[in-house]
Amino acid sequence: MSYVIQPWDIPSVPVADSSDCFPVRHIFCVGRNYAEHAKEMGGDAAKEPPFFFTKPADALVPVVEPDVASVRYPLATKNYQHELELVAAIGMAGDRLAPERAQSIIYGYAIGLDMTRRDLQIEMREKKRPWDLGKSFAEAAPIGPIHPVARVGHPSRGRIALDVNGETRQQGDLADMIWDVPHIVHFLSQYYELLPGDLVFTGTPAGVGAVAPGDLLVGRIEGLGTLSVRIAPPR
Ligand code: MN
Repeated sequence: MSYVIQPWDIPSVPVADSSDCFPVRHIFCVGRNYAEHAKEMGGDAAKEPPFFFTKPADALVPVVEPDVASVRYPLATKNYQHELELVAAIGMAGDRLAPERAQSIIYGYAIGLDMTRRDLQIEMREKKRPWDLGKSFAEAAPIGPIHPVARVGHPSRGRIALDVNGETRQQGDLADMIWDVPHIVHFLSQYYELLPGDLVFTGTPAGVGAVAPGDLLVGRIEGLGTLSVRIAPPR
């Protein structure tokens, strides 16, 4: 059998300190999972079950320090924003998992950016339409290498912060999540059989904001290193 168009490589993310790669199947993202960010987005911090959206796997832009990824300013937006997040990488299949069992399917963790066309997201939200235009587009998911659980455990506390041009914009602690990673995986696995290769972006702390071409974004999560991205001019 042959393909009728040139096939592309399987999207993948390097495993930290190794020559191995983690192949990516599906990207899930959690909305509003830090109370201060929920407030800045006009919601309240009531402990409702988490909600989810997705990005295509080919939105990933893997970057390994000391490299700086170049990410093009996307089409059709005037308000392109950063959301720095802890990412859990799923290594085993699982559905309808109890929170106590949820960690057992996680292979590792990484730093990721849920880049967002905020104007389009808000417009779609107000029209009660899907968020895809705001969240799913080319290069919408820069990500650092995956650190296996065998080396870093399951990070549940520690500083998460993003600098833009050397100035701290986002700052929080993983312990401030409304729903921790086991509960996120628990809820998500009620709706989907999670599969090896899935990634879960776990929400962003307060301080999201717009970026412009030329800006340098440097994200850090304690124990997971740094993720650096330079915004390139629009197409
Ligand atoms: Mn997000």
